[in-house]
Amino acid sequence: MEKEINPSTRLRIDGERKRTINIMIVDDNSKMLETLQDILGEEGYNVTIADSIALARENIEKKFYHLALVDLNLVNGSGLDLLSGIRKKNSETMVIIFTAYASLETAILSLREGVFSYLQKPLNMEELKITIKKALKTQELSLENKNLIARLKELSLKDSLTGLHNYRYLMERIASEFMRAKRYILPLSLIMLDIDYFKSINEVYGHHYGDSILKEFSGYLKNCARTNDIVVRYGGEEFVILMPDTAKEGAVNFGKRLLEKCKEHIFDRGDKRIKLKISIGVANFPEDGGNNTTELLDAADKALREAKERGGNQLFPYQSISTKEIKDIIRDGGRLNIDKLKERLHRMKNRTNQILVESIYAFAKAVEARDHYTGRHSESMVSIVTEIGKKLRLSSHEIENLQHAAMLHDLGKIGIPDKILHKRKSLSPVEYEKIKRHPQIGAEIIRDIHILKEVLPMILHHHERYDGLGYSAGAKGKDIPLGARIVAIADVYQALISDRPYRKAYSKEEALKIIREGSGTQFDPAIVDVFLQIIQGKK
Ligand code: GH3
Ligand code: MG
Ligand code: MG
Repeated sequence: MEKEINPSTRLRIDGERKRTINIMIVDDNSKMLETLQDILGEEGYNVTIADSIALARENIEKKFYHLALVDLNLVNGSGLDLLSGIRKKNSETMVIIFTAYASLETAILSLREGVFSYLQKPLNMEELKITIKKALKTQELSLENKNLIARLKELSLKDSLTGLHNYRYLMERIASEFMRAKRYILPLSLIMLDIDYFKSINEVYGHHYGDSILKEFSGYLKNCARTNDIVVRYGGEEFVILMPDTAKEGAVNFGKRLLEKCKEHIFDRGDKRIKLKISIGVANFPEDGGNNTTELLDAADKALREAKERGGNQLFPYQSISTKEIKDIIRDGGRLNIDKLKERLHRMKNRTNQILVESIYAFAKAVEARDHYTGRHSESMVSIVTEIGKKLRLSSHEIENLQHAAMLHDLGKIGIPDKILHKRKSLSPVEYEKIKRHPQIGAEIIRDIHILKEVLPMILHHHERYDGLGYSAGAKGKDIPLGARIVAIADVYQALISDRPYRKAYSKEEALKIIREGSGTQFDPAIVDVFLQIIQGKK
């Protein structure tokens, strides 16, 4: 049985807006249904009735009900069963439950199911009317709140001057785009763009004029971009275009076209006609930033700075530190190189750990090549220290530090001139003093790199001797950091079995004999034991 009455009835809520309120009553008592239908119809509500759960389910598929009045104890089931269907269809629908058999349990259960109120039969009609009004008012307020929140959210993510999305929006969006790119292995490009000499536009034509140019430029950018691109005012006169599914080449081409078009475009304000010059940096995932969004933004920012440094009005695609630059810095030992390298590393400091460490590794490898090591000296050391670390049951973090130390132990040789490093004859005392400084120089280079904090002592002390006769501090026994004692053995062993400028390589047996003889004097005997077990185990 379903009957609608007064379908065109309009209701005044608080004497203001007229709106049609749809109410469904679900009860298997036909007399009850009719009574309620009449009473609520007279109140101006648009009432639908249903005498079974099945019919009620059909009804909620057909239209939106502001309110459902549901009898809990129906012949063919519990009114509670209907609730999830109502919630699923429209979570805004308010529900009032009534029943003849009240129990605390059902009351709690129904309230927990998101029911607005719970009335007991026989119904007090005045109470029912008041409860319905309260429910509808609550619903209205909650809807208003929702709209307001949505509007606020939209406003908080838009830039008020240009109407473009703002920095906050970018941060939200870039995170999800980055995740998508990673998950589906899609490229993601980012263009960072800054208007050249914008300050002087303000100074010459006034801030108001500057504002109007920014507005027009924003519209211009939005027009140039594809619909899928996300155009953002990143700050002042800086903009970001996030380009999903776009390879670096595509982004670079887009940026170049933008640059060319901008060279032609005249911003016309009657008597004031100007052209804008812009600088563009381009970065791409996965090419330039594999780890996170900060890395990608950082790479684009660096590229943009580079475009500016080269005079502006141009595009620069991000490139990680070039091999030429490494060669230039380490061409010959000396103070200048150390300072250059330190400055370079300092500039890279806010990059992610991984990229920073990779860059330092690149330097270390280049230094090693200059030291005339052939083969893979540092890498072999890394595998030896790893095995020693494992046998000593060090934590994975400690082993990682050992690996960094093995890779970077000779970084300080960047400060030793070629003529000393490559000398075939034995060194003079003065030259030897210079060589002895390389652990300190290495430590100095990585001093302010936080992630290498625990690696620093291993580098600084990797030439100490167990008997206290080594350098840089003359530390003795267990005062020498464990990592340094481990690196020392791996370093000497690898050096012995390599060709050096001043001698040929020793055989493995000869090298092991030398290490064994140094146990307790040059080396920590406990670590020598472990080391010998490892090497002999390999034979
Ligand atoms: P460069 O070529 O190095 O980018 O020089 P620049 O002058 O464009 O850059 P700088 O970062 O030194 O100055 C940015 C200027 O942009 C300064 C600021 O007054 C102006 N600016 C930032 N936001 C607004 C804005 O909302 N309205 C106006 N009119 N100017 C703004
Ligand atoms: Mg600028
Ligand atoms: Mg700027």
